[in-house]
Amino acid sequence: MIILLLGAPGAGKGSISNILKEKYHFFHISTGEIFRKVINASTDIAKKLKSIMLSGGLIDDDTTNEIVKNELMELSNKNLNIVLDGYPRNINQANFLSKIVKVDYVFDILVDEQEIMKRITGRRTCPVCKSIYNIYYHKPQKEGVCDYDGSLLVQRNDDKEDVVVERFKTYLALNTPLVEYYKQQKIYYPIVNENLDKAIGEIKKIIG
Ligand SMILES: [Zn+2]
Repeated sequence: MIILLLGAPGAGKGSISNILKEKYHFFHISTGEIFRKVINASTDIAKKLKSIMLSGGLIDDDTTNEIVKNELMELSNKNLNIVLDGYPRNINQANFLSKIVKVDYVFDILVDEQEIMKRITGRRTCPVCKSIYNIYYHKPQKEGVCDYDGSLLVQRNDDKEDVVVERFKTYLALNTPLVEYYKQQKIYYPIVNENLDKAIGEIKKIIG
């Protein structure tokens, strides 16, 4: 079985993938992880990927497709249940995917936009021990200071409000056509992620 997770950055795709992996033995494919894995190999595609990443460029669809295909072929031969997260990102990738495997379910993980903003813009990290806090949900004992080593907490540039708003816009522009695409194929399921256990329960009910 192959399932896809769609959802804005911060919607909880990572947590859902982890539960599917740990509790239900799904094999988790995230493009971020594959890229990190591939880059350490000594293949032609690894060299290409490395040069794109070093120059700070976006990884083009053809390269992404080829890398995901290699990974998927290896796994689908073994008849595993797979959860894909972060791919496809656009219609071009979705078309490519539909040619190589049959996707069974597409879950769109939905959370309130304000909620996402709080999850991301509230995040603070300790530069020393890498502990993660959130000024709304998981405050340090003393404001702005790490509980473990007293270091001053920092906000990543990526987590700043204007950056997040921009990322969200880009996400919507790419995701909306994907939603339509999978609705037409009747494999699209919106999942409201107000509560992780409830969201997982809904997914379980659908996949049986
Ligand atoms: Zn710390």
